[in-house]
Amino acid sequence: MIYADNAATTKMSKTAIEAMLPYMEEFYGNPSSLYEFGQKAKEALESARARVAACLGAEPREITFTSGGSEADNQAIITMAHAGAKKGKKHIISTAFEHHAVLHTLEKLKKEGFEVTLLDVHSNGLITAQQVADAIREDTALVTIMFANNEIGTIQPIAEIGAVCREKKVPFHTDAVQAAGHLHIDVKAMNIDMLSLSAHKFHGPKGVGVLYAKKGILLESLINGGGQERGKRAGTENIPGIMGLAAALEEACGNIDHHAETLTPLRDKLIAGLKKIPYSELNGDASQRLPSNVNFCFEGIEGESLLLLLDDKGICASSGSACTSGSLDPSHVLLSIGRPHEVAHGSLRLSLGDDMTEETIDEIIAAVTDVVTYLRGISPFWRDLVTGKRQHVFAE
Ligand SMILES: *Cc1c(COP(=O)(O)O)cnc(C)c1O
Repeated sequence: MIYADNAATTKMSKTAIEAMLPYMEEFYGNPSSLYEFGQKAKEALESARARVAACLGAEPREITFTSGGSEADNQAIITMAHAGAKKGKKHIISTAFEHHAVLHTLEKLKKEGFEVTLLDVHSNGLITAQQVADAIREDTALVTIMFANNEIGTIQPIAEIGAVCREKKVPFHTDAVQAAGHLHIDVKAMNIDMLSLSAHKFHGPKGVGVLYAKKGILLESLINGGGQERGKRAGTENIPGIMGLAAALEEACGNIDHHAETLTPLRDKLIAGLKKIPYSELNGDASQRLPSNVNFCFEGIEGESLLLLLDDKGICASSGSACTSGSLDPSHVLLSIGRPHEVAHGSLRLSLGDDMTEETIDEIIAAVTDVVTYLRGISPFWRDLVTGKRQHVFAE
């Protein structure tokens, strides 16, 4: 099997698994207990917090553990929206191609009377700091813009956006779930006020994440209960998960340059190979993208059929994001960069892993080329394109 869906989730690293085991088998105490045994778990928790903080250039007290990226996104946005509303600020700036954890939270806030500006994404999958500067108003409570897109892998100019927000004194949150452990992040140097990350996207366990919030920001608790995480997140801490997260993040952050040096040439080889398929196009900027991300549209192809036939050939891939696969709506990300509906349906995301080689890439190129050729051969839609009944969207 070739696993080419690392943007959906990753295999846990040995380091992360080994970091978790002692906290399941031996030190299973509750960190809120006063006896020595519980305090062992508490010490582990605080050491994990310090290690995560160090990876981000943050302070330990600025780190809150959550159940994952979605919860961190929800908490960051709701906190800043409600804090803004108290000062009469009810405007939020984001982009049209955020993850649904952000977009659906913004939809909910709209029902509470917030006004949301979604910045248009350029056809290369990027927005500019100037767009953010132009959209900021007196009543802007928050700017929330993702670090790297989960479908097309494009990397936003986060430090420039951070500088604009800092200058205009508007809080800045970034969903860095695809970036953490893959790109260098320094929250202070980049003027990031809040940041979300999730362990299972960098070879850690599922169901555990982090919300970084700059000191001075009072997080609104979304879960009511005990006073864990300094009252910011109720519920007994997931100590094994947190230990796995910290170990995986440290390992990934120590490996960022190597990861980029290994994957970038493989990514570019895959892009070059898939470009040879007629009427296909890469989605998102060719260089301003994650080293692991390849995303293509193929004319006259149904994404679902493409995935099923690739699965038959032992290749795990995705069309759009894991959250929307299973629905027949075209990806909101591809629509946001201006792909027409009929082309957006024929998309394929391949997200590479560190274990891949040139041979893996050759196998993927051959398999995708075969499947696309086969599907076009049986497609009435493709026949209409060939006979000129319909116009092509892409050049040959
Ligand atoms: C995966 C992902 C999330 C959600 O994280 P979970 O830990 O699965 O809740 C949020 N944003 C982006 C960009 C993601 O890729």
